[in-house]
Amino acid sequence: MIKIRKDIETCEGYANCVVAASDVYDLDDDGKVVILRPTVDESERDKVDEAVRSCPTAAIWLEDD
Ligand code: SF4
Repeated sequence: MIKIRKDIETCEGYANCVVAASDVYDLDDDGKVVILRPTVDESERDKVDEAVRSCPTAAIWLEDD
């Protein structure tokens, strides 16, 4: 499994992560990233990797479980 991590202090609400993986990332009413699923399966790595690469502020990252 892959753990989905975030730092909401760093998030600036660009929503690139939501575009890349809308079933894993969302934005709250303050425009800060919300993690919809704390872990994802290895089969979803490409999608969450893309989300991490597309974040302009490096506010999200992955950890291997
Ligand atoms: S792409 Fe980065 S800065 Fe934008 S909402 Fe997602 S985590 Fe926040």
